[in-house]
Parts: sequence; C-alpha cells; structure tokens
Amino acid sequence: MTIQALRTHVLACPEPNDFGNTRYTLLLEMRTLEGIRAWGEAITLWPEAAHAVASLINSGLGDTVCGMDEREPEAVWLKLKTHTWWYGEGGLASMAISAIDMACWDAAAQNADLPLYALLGGRAHQSLPALASMHVNRATHEEGAEEVAGHIRSGFKGAKLGFAKRGLSRVGPDPVVNLAYLKAVRDACGPDASLMVDIGNGVRWDAATAIRATDLFAEVGIDWIEEPLHPDDLEGLAQLRRHTATRIATGEREWTVEGYRRLIATGLVDVVGVDPARAEGVTGFRKIAAIAEAARVTVNAHAWSSAILTAASLHLSLSTRCARWFELKPLPSPLQHELVREPIWHVKGEVFAGNRPGLGIEIVDAALNRYKHQ
Ligand SMILES: [Mg+2]
Repeated sequence: MTIQALRTHVLACPEPNDFGNTRYTLLLEMRTLEGIRAWGEAITLWPEAAHAVASLINSGLGDTVCGMDEREPEAVWLKLKTHTWWYGEGGLASMAISAIDMACWDAAAQNADLPLYALLGGRAHQSLPALASMHVNRATHEEGAEEVAGHIRSGFKGAKLGFAKRGLSRVGPDPVVNLAYLKAVRDACGPDASLMVDIGNGVRWDAATAIRATDLFAEVGIDWIEEPLHPDDLEGLAQLRRHTATRIATGEREWTVEGYRRLIATGLVDVVGVDPARAEGVTGFRKIAAIAEAARVTVNAHAWSSAILTAASLHLSLSTRCARWFELKPLPSPLQHELVREPIWHVKGEVFAGNRPGLGIEIVDAALNRYKHQ
C-alpha cells in the first residue's frame, strides 16, 4: 500500500528487427513496502535520453511519489503532472511520467491480484489479431516480399511495413519504388493479408507526394498509411485527407492527453498511434483512448521496445474497444524474448493476455544485468 523505492535500469540491446541496431531503453523497477516488485518503461531509444530520464527520476521526480499508495495510480499520475508543471507537457518528462505510471499500475494490479486489464475495467476483446511490425531492409523486393510472406504463413494476420529504415533496401523516398515493393509483397502474401505502410522519419514528403504515393498504394490495397507527413504538417494532412479514402494513421510523436485531443479534434486522423511508454503511461493512454473512442477513431498501441511495454500495450489494447490490432516485432529479440520468462506471442495469429496479476511478466534478472548500460 506504500511505494517504497524506485530503481532505474538503462538497457542497451541489439535489435534484430532494426537490422541489428543498438537501442536504448529505460526500465523502472518499483518496490512497495509490502514486497511487490513492479515494472515500467520509457521508450527512450537513444543513450542520452535513457540516462536523462533516469536522472529526472533519481534526482527528484521519484521522491515525489515515494510514500504514496500504489493502489491510486491516477493520484500518483496527477502528482507527477503537477510537479512537472514547468518542465513537463512533453519530452523527457513525459517519458519519466510514463515509466513511473506504468509501474504504479502494475503494482496496483498485483496488489489487487488481478491482471491489469481487469483493473482497467475488463476486456473489450478476448484477443486481437497479430500484426507483424517490421522494417523493410532487405536488398531486393523479392527477398523483402518473401520475408513478409513468411510471417504471414507463420500466422500473422497482417504486416506493418516500415519504410526508409536501416539496411539494404531502397524502399522509402520514391513512391514508384515503393509501389514495386508493395506489389511484390501483395503477390507473395495473397489478397487476405492486411498491409499497413509506415512511411517513417526517414522520409520527408510534401502533401503532393503523399497524395501521389497514397493513390499508387491503393492499387495493392493497404489498410492504412502511417505518418505520411511530418507531424507538424497539419495543412498537408488536410490536403491528403481531402484526396484519399485510405485510412490515415498518425500521432506516435505526440506526448500528452491534450496534444492528442487537439490532433483528434482536427478530424484528419483515422488511426491514432499511442505509446504508453511515451504518452504519460497507462493513465495517459486510457485518457487518450477515451477521446479517440468518442471521436470514432481507432487506437493503435505503439509497442516497439521491451516486453514490459508490450505487456502494458497488450492489456491496454484488450481493454480498449477502438483498438483493432496488436503489433509484435516478428523476429526474436533480446528485449522481447530474453528479458521475461514467458514472452508475449500470438496463437494462430491472435494475441491474448494471461490471467497473471499485474502486467503478468516475470523479469529475468540475468538478462537485465547482461544488457545494463552504465
Ligand atoms: Mg510508426
């Protein structure tokens, strides 16, 4: 009933799903007076961001919640939001709040002896279809298409294809090259596989290019186009919206509930990406999901880091009516498969949460120590 201590762990891990690139994440271990050990995460990606978030927590922010009751996670969240009034409202403070909030919800659910989804009000979905969330990085379209088809054959019901990523692929800036790749993928996967296109930070299109690309991609049938324009380019997004019937996904770089409220209120978004390790935790995600549901917008959890974030995203997605998919990194990775004893995976293309209390994960301390970054 009392948050006793917070401990930060910065991890550095090679990510096979990102062409072996090293990714950095900040894990938060919360202990309660009664002996609960709970976990949260901030999806920092870079070493300086991971250590800076650790410093925010260890230099003062953590002290503000020690002694509070973990059974009241929204009260803890409000305390964090109030405390960070001057340097918060986005950026690394939002990541620090995310990690503490997530751990608090894990602790609260463990205290109640309930899986997190039950504490969140219960499941809107017993399971969600698994989406292979992958980066396009093979040298040829044929190799890339065969990789996607392999994931579909293994049970995934769709694939989200991240363009302009590290690796050997030219897929990214040129819509015509992208179309040739997508045709190869569609041919290899068949008509039933859902395909989403994630344009990514490596591409800077103007509205005219985004419109042309979306028109071309319609030929192969895509479920949505994600981040087709820079997040600041709302005018461009409005032009794209007027010209296409393809669903538009965006929002993964927002930070706060208010930021999401403004974005959703534009009416330009069909699928809003929300990361509970960035957008102020489980509490932030829930508040954003409520706004999205009222606006009839789909919520899609961004869960591309460790098994802790994946677990939080899964419990949240299952308890969110307007969630439609659950993303998994398709290649085994240290952060997903070594860090916890029973990694989350799909069963015949469907992702379920177990009934263990809290996030339902058991951290492997040897893995935690193996990947620790000082
Ligand atoms: Mg994305």
